[in-house]
Amino acid sequence: MDFNFTQEQQLLQRTLAEFGSRELAPAYASRDKDDDLPREVVSQLARMGLLAPMAEARFGGNDLDYVSLGIAHEEIARYDFNAAYVLLLSGLVGAIITARADERQKTAILPPICRGEAVAALGVTEPSGGSDAAQVKLQARRDGDTYVLNGEKTSISFASWADTVLVMARTGTPEEGAHGVSAFYVDLHSPGVGRNRFKDLGSRAIGRGQLFFDSVRVPAESRIGPEGAGFVQVMQGFDFSRSLIGLMCIGAAEQSVEETCKYVAERQAFGGSLARFEGVSFPLAEAAVQLRAARLLCYEALWLKDHGQPHGWLSAGCKWWAPELAAHVLHQCLLLHGHLGFSLDLPHQQRLRDVIGLEIGDGTAQIMKLLVARALIGSVARPY
Ligand SMILES: Cc1cc2nc3c(=O)[nH]c(=O)nc-3n(C[C@H](O)[C@H](O)[C@H](O)COP(=O)(O)OP(=O)(O)OC[C@H]3O[C@@H](n4cnc5c(N)ncnc54)[C@H](O)[C@@H]3O)c2cc1C
Repeated sequence: MDFNFTQEQQLLQRTLAEFGSRELAPAYASRDKDDDLPREVVSQLARMGLLAPMAEARFGGNDLDYVSLGIAHEEIARYDFNAAYVLLLSGLVGAIITARADERQKTAILPPICRGEAVAALGVTEPSGGSDAAQVKLQARRDGDTYVLNGEKTSISFASWADTVLVMARTGTPEEGAHGVSAFYVDLHSPGVGRNRFKDLGSRAIGRGQLFFDSVRVPAESRIGPEGAGFVQVMQGFDFSRSLIGLMCIGAAEQSVEETCKYVAERQAFGGSLARFEGVSFPLAEAAVQLRAARLLCYEALWLKDHGQPHGWLSAGCKWWAPELAAHVLHQCLLLHGHLGFSLDLPHQQRLRDVIGLEIGDGTAQIMKLLVARALIGSVARPY
């Protein structure tokens, strides 16, 4: 076994650490206050080749491997958790388009995403359900060379400012369940699209919210893949994004652990450094070891993806464990700063608020455990 990153991966890690601490960290808090992720951040990430990098070079991608993509998520999230959402969504949408779209669609869709000109959202969740994602009610009715979309998506990252969305809509009957769902790539500046921004606990910069489709007419060629294949296409995309989310959460927690280690070493109480007390040092020791273990799980899942080996259940495990662990660690870091930790001036509370969002987004821990159980035990462990 070789636990080292390649030289290119180590260079990427150093480059992003330097970029993140210089360019992203200083405005992490103000972007939360202003509810804003400036387009310039998207452009910077695009210039570094981090948006939908799995696209072929002729469409603007650069063939980056998935372990490297994991490094990018971990490093960027250390300095600005929400900037990493831009990588995450561009990668998710980019991978689905790369795998499922035809040549003409790839030529139209991928280059603007890779250049950072089109911020793409992913529209799965509806008001009637997120975990039960196959119960899609958003209607796509065929009308000649077009489809007409009517309905609502909710809880969509970037809903308030995205340019496009890869959206799941029902082209079949409700009885067809997941097999009556198709995927469409829709311009969100089209007539009939409405938006509403949520007031969130964390990740305020990403502008999560609702998307309304009121007789939105889209060309038939905006359907990605065959009719009825949309659900499976989109769900398969989650096979790697779940490990990337794990690494985002771990990156944020690692950063807080490092900062907290420095703080408790310097803070004086009872005649010396606070770090002398096991009640102070043990939570940090536990955090470091547990984060390392969860991080290895995420990189193993991505390595398996790079090598074309099964990794779905590991990825689901990453998505359940890493955000939960990171939230626990960030809470400990906050407490170890005493009253200062409770202040909005320190970043631990913001990282904690941001990480909690991804305990839910992309599927909750319960749903991830169902996926792991099904992989272990078989379809008998399938409750529905
Ligand atoms: C920060 C953030 C970003 C998001 N971004 C996006 C996005 O970009 N695109 C998108 O489409 N969606 C997005 N979502 C939505 C997210 O994917 C859903 O919220 C999530 O899948 C849960 O669905 P729900 O909210 O409808 O909860 P529900 O499905 O109603 O679940 C409620 C509770 O019941 C539990 N539960 C449900 N079913 C079961 C079961 N069978 N067994 C055990 N427990 C169960 C859940 O774990 C949860 O605790 C985002 C959410 C957040 C918080």
